[in-house]
Amino acid sequence: MTHPAQPKASHFINGEYVEDTGGTPIPVIYAATGEQIATVYAATPAIVEQALSTSKAAQKEWAKMTGTERGRILRRAADIMRERNHELSVLETYDTGKPLQETLVADATSGADALEYFGGLAGSLTGEHIPMGEDWVYTKREALGLCVGIGAWNYPTQIACWKGAPALACGNSMVFKPSETTPLCALKVAEILHEAGAPAGIYNVIQGMGEVGGALVTDPRVDKVSLTGSVPTGKKVYAAAAEGMKHVTMELGGKSPLIIFDDADVDNAVGGAINGNFYSSGQVCSNGTRVFVQKGIKERFLACLAERTGNAVIGDPMDETTSFGPMVTENQMNIVLGYIEKGKEEGARLICGGERADMDGYYIQPTVFADVTDDMTIAREEIFGPVMSVLDFDTEEEVIARANDTEFGLSAGVFTNDFSRAHRVIDQLEAGSCFINSYNDAPVEAPFGGVKASGVGRENSKEAIKHFSQVKSVYVRMGDVEAAF
Ligand code: NDP
Repeated sequence: MTHPAQPKASHFINGEYVEDTGGTPIPVIYAATGEQIATVYAATPAIVEQALSTSKAAQKEWAKMTGTERGRILRRAADIMRERNHELSVLETYDTGKPLQETLVADATSGADALEYFGGLAGSLTGEHIPMGEDWVYTKREALGLCVGIGAWNYPTQIACWKGAPALACGNSMVFKPSETTPLCALKVAEILHEAGAPAGIYNVIQGMGEVGGALVTDPRVDKVSLTGSVPTGKKVYAAAAEGMKHVTMELGGKSPLIIFDDADVDNAVGGAINGNFYSSGQVCSNGTRVFVQKGIKERFLACLAERTGNAVIGDPMDETTSFGPMVTENQMNIVLGYIEKGKEEGARLICGGERADMDGYYIQPTVFADVTDDMTIAREEIFGPVMSVLDFDTEEEVIARANDTEFGLSAGVFTNDFSRAHRVIDQLEAGSCFINSYNDAPVEAPFGGVKASGVGRENSKEAIKHFSQVKSVYVRMGDVEAAF
């Protein structure tokens, strides 16, 4: 019998599901059991062509609609997503393995927030009037054209919406390629946008691995590429986009610092460290995986952390009491287990976890290492799994320098009850998305993105509008034209 997660077809193009079994089969594996639940096929060159040509053709008419009309469609899509939240959350859990306890509140809901927020902004995208004596200049905020979105596997619904909603609000069309690991959810986003009234071709979804992403990025009809992925992929995609002088948004990886001063509320700081390391089994780009704890509270912090980590409910992601699910794939599990071994070999002190959990599926115990030093592999490389490194520090100046000593710059957090110190420290941290006495909040109203190797551009908020539109300026002369001859 067909599994309920199996989509009607692999691709959604020009308002309908489209299949081409000539492409490489992509098995969809449920991470909690290792069972194959669906198959999709990578886009063939004919599918890539169909996706690009229909999206290109649809964009001009879409851009001619008023922002309010476009916004109404996005807001209707938000309502449909919320109505179907349970079904979409179950699918997100099948796609990623993340527990339903999380997906019910963090995925389709976050996607719906983006559709609603950018739907609301669409009618207010205006230019400026600049007086020049009796002449004047006016500016128009125009769509870029055809945009490509390429997603990572950790938040397939959210990423499809965080890219699609601002793109469509500005009058662009989008071809979205999900990660081959989690191909299911973006198809639902396309289906819902279409049901809400988006014209055929405005938001197409096609499947495939890196080559399909590469074919989209290099196509001359494409005006902008927005990628969520790792730094190495980001470098390749950015370079390929530069060849065609295309706009880019790069949301890449991180190794973010979370700094806990000894005047902090320990329970809240532990809560922040748990949210910043173990949510989605640690598969979150902005995670605060280098937890710097001031020496005065170190042992108290570790004791509280070990006790609360012991309360994680590891198990069936479809059971709403489960609070900690598996890694997305066997491969990702093995990568993370490799890092845990490195941590042990390089002399970090294991506080809890440190092993594969004893059950079917790709589960790893939530793991905490203490006495981690800056040079250890687990403190330098992005692990993308439930592995927290706790490092000690003495002074504010020292911790700022150590926190910034990384190629990454996505996020940073500070826990302290001294508010002038909180702001002073945050000001000096090289990161795009920061937190004071909190960690990993990502409301659509706030800009999200990194500095240094963690990326270029911002998602969400009014900032995203700037990255999905361009300004045309028009000089209007009222009098005669003076010329030299
Ligand atoms: P990857 O970089 O491996 O892949 C990202 C996407 O790019 C996938 O869809 C992938 O396809 C595609 N791709 C790979 N090669 C190319 C290419 N040459 N041209 C075009 N597209 C290509 O990332 P993961 O999926 O492994 O996701 C984890 C990474 O994403 C982590 O580093 C994480 O930090 C980052 N991330 C960043 C976020 C942010 O907002 N800053 C949020 C979430 C994750 P395929 O997978 O099918 O090969």
